[in-house]
Amino acid sequence: MLYVSTRGSGPVTSAQAIVRGIAPDGGLYVPVNLPRVGEDFVRDLAEVSYPERAARVLKLLLEDFSSEELLSMAREAYARFEGGCPAPVTALKSGVRVLELFHGPTMAFKDMALQMLPRLMRAAALKTGEKREIAILTATSGDTGKAALEGFADAEGTSVTVFYPYGGVSRVQERQMVTSRGQNTHVIAVRGNFDDAQTGVKRLFGDADFIRQMDERGRVLSSANSINLGRLVPQVAYYFSAAADLMKQGLCGMDRPVDVCVPTGNFGNILACWYAKRMGAPIGRLICASNANDVLTDFLRTGVYDRRRTFHKTISPSMDILISSNLERLLWEIGGEEKVRAWMKDLSEKGVFALTEAEKGLLDQEFLCGKADDAQTRAEMAAVWQAEGYVMDPHTAVASRVLRDLKAEAKVCASPLLVSTASPFKFAPDVCAALGLCGDTLDAFEAAAVLSRECALALPAPMAELKSLPVRHRRVCEKEGMGEAVLEELGS
Ligand SMILES: *Cc1c(COP(=O)(O)O)cnc(C)c1O
Repeated sequence: MLYVSTRGSGPVTSAQAIVRGIAPDGGLYVPVNLPRVGEDFVRDLAEVSYPERAARVLKLLLEDFSSEELLSMAREAYARFEGGCPAPVTALKSGVRVLELFHGPTMAFKDMALQMLPRLMRAAALKTGEKREIAILTATSGDTGKAALEGFADAEGTSVTVFYPYGGVSRVQERQMVTSRGQNTHVIAVRGNFDDAQTGVKRLFGDADFIRQMDERGRVLSSANSINLGRLVPQVAYYFSAAADLMKQGLCGMDRPVDVCVPTGNFGNILACWYAKRMGAPIGRLICASNANDVLTDFLRTGVYDRRRTFHKTISPSMDILISSNLERLLWEIGGEEKVRAWMKDLSEKGVFALTEAEKGLLDQEFLCGKADDAQTRAEMAAVWQAEGYVMDPHTAVASRVLRDLKAEAKVCASPLLVSTASPFKFAPDVCAALGLCGDTLDAFEAAAVLSRECALALPAPMAELKSLPVRHRRVCEKEGMGEAVLEELGS
């Protein structure tokens, strides 16, 4: 199966799409024809381990990789997840089923993809004849950087350099990054804000002199951001996995699809759900949940995408996004490449674009949406804890609240799937305060200890070890000196 760019170029193989990340015309790679499986495929998944499930689903999308290759990658990638299964489904008394995607090394769902990506990238590079080391450069506002560092640490044929704004991330996030293990990991603080770091990285990707110097050292630049096909496909796997588990319990089937609610930011996670559905997973409505940054819910409600609005900082920061880059893949399915080019032009020139009634109708058949502000999110964490004895992180609670509202309107099935994207320990101060376990003065480590004690939850290993890990990365650079800093870090 081949991939084309949402803006028209291609086709390319999946290995080429993964190595390139973004298409040369600025578009995202999308499958030309999604493969389709039957009920047996899903039912059989329930009988095998998670790595095997992932390998089977990935094989459908990455035809130029062998099954053995994918299985060995998935085994390695998911070996470091706590608790045996990387994507368990937990039952709540309300009927809701929670797909927990936060048992990986950085306690958030990005590990599900970023543990696979380096392996996919390395194999894809070999397939396309790329012999240089793949040097990942990325700027982070906190979470993605750490997940990339964990994923690429000691991955053969790669290195990863993460820039973060000096003094601009939380204490826990900074500690997570500067203690990163791995001989090929590099962490550099930039004197500036996140935009400076992001702009600096973009500049390096377009800097011919820097690219030449890297090439002379046997290195080629690449990116680990969420538009890379190699991040999208591992996410399709967990939707099949959850559907298989639910089907085995008699909670869904081809005639009784399950509705799925996803806390959404860049639209990557929910898009993977949509692919899973199109490929034959028994999934019904896709519910897009937003926090106060509700550009996506407004778009699904009205057919107008309008980013000309205030940016809100919320307690679910990974959903604080005004431009959801992966939406372009869905838009391509609705309108094709010419429409996508026009919509993206409108978005960059006017900050807004609009679907026709007919186009919006296509979305209405698939999607529901809703939003929750910080007060509703806090109330939801407390309500679920009281009713269920279950602790949610703020991102998951946004989706839980949206699901509650839709259930009250009888718009969803009896046992919908709620996608949980982060461990409550990752956001312990806000969670603790919402549950009424402490005021809002505790630091992240203190709050995590309270949460563990009061809710009788084991402290996740990545949190437990964080305080005692040695600091390994201390480099700080000016925003004008990022290229030089990379060359110094990587050495010759
Ligand atoms: C990244 C992230 C999201 C948003 O996922 P998208 O794929 O960008 O929509 C939600 N919750 C958490 C905890 C995240 O880290």
